[in-house]
Amino acid sequence: MAAEPDANNAGNTRFIRTEPGAVTREVRVQSLGMRGATVWFTGLSGAGKSTIAIEVERRLVEQRIAAYRVDGDNLRAGLCSDLGFSPEDRARNVARAGEACTMLADAGIVVLASLVSPFRADRDRVRAVHASRGIPFFEAHVAVSLEVAEQRDTKGLYRRARAGEIADFTGIHQPYEEPLAPELLLESADSTIAQCVEQVLAHLQSAARS
Ligand code: ADP
Repeated sequence: MAAEPDANNAGNTRFIRTEPGAVTREVRVQSLGMRGATVWFTGLSGAGKSTIAIEVERRLVEQRIAAYRVDGDNLRAGLCSDLGFSPEDRARNVARAGEACTMLADAGIVVLASLVSPFRADRDRVRAVHASRGIPFFEAHVAVSLEVAEQRDTKGLYRRARAGEIADFTGIHQPYEEPLAPELLLESADSTIAQCVEQVLAHLQSAARS
């Protein structure tokens, strides 16, 4: 009897070989003048990831630099709509977002990713994928205490989590593992939004020069 094919033919992936194409990263950078990078904003819900990313994107585009936001909440409405908030699903969510970032950044875009991404190991895998493809990756920890984030409660999620309406909420039911050596530390409780934005832009400028 013939072997039962697996439901989605996942075994077929062993016959696939990757196609590098004719345009190398160096040629793309030289020819288009676009270097590409990922700035990965991580932090508690309400820390200020999206607020900072939105303004950085606006400022870069104003300077005619291709920039694009990859927002965790937006991804969960599409590419990651099948995923929940268990540690396993969070790992998948971060990995998929990371893949999307590498593609955009490899194309020359400055990607501004904002995802809570609470687990260090998941973020480190995204860093490693970027490194393996030679794409600059900057981890930006948008740091606030849980008290400040909960006080802001911009989306009312902490209140709902405390009331038991939301499960698996970072900071309440699950830990947030702070980055140990982020390229950028944005202390959003002690700085203005404008100061955080300038800090990111200055880092990008100095990285582009080196
Ligand atoms: P996140 O994307 O991390 O969930 P948001 O950007 O949606 O957080 O919300 C952050 C809130 O904190 C906004 O209401 C913003 O105006 C406020 N805020 C105060 N100070 C700062 C700062 N320095 N940087 C970013 N946001 C700040």
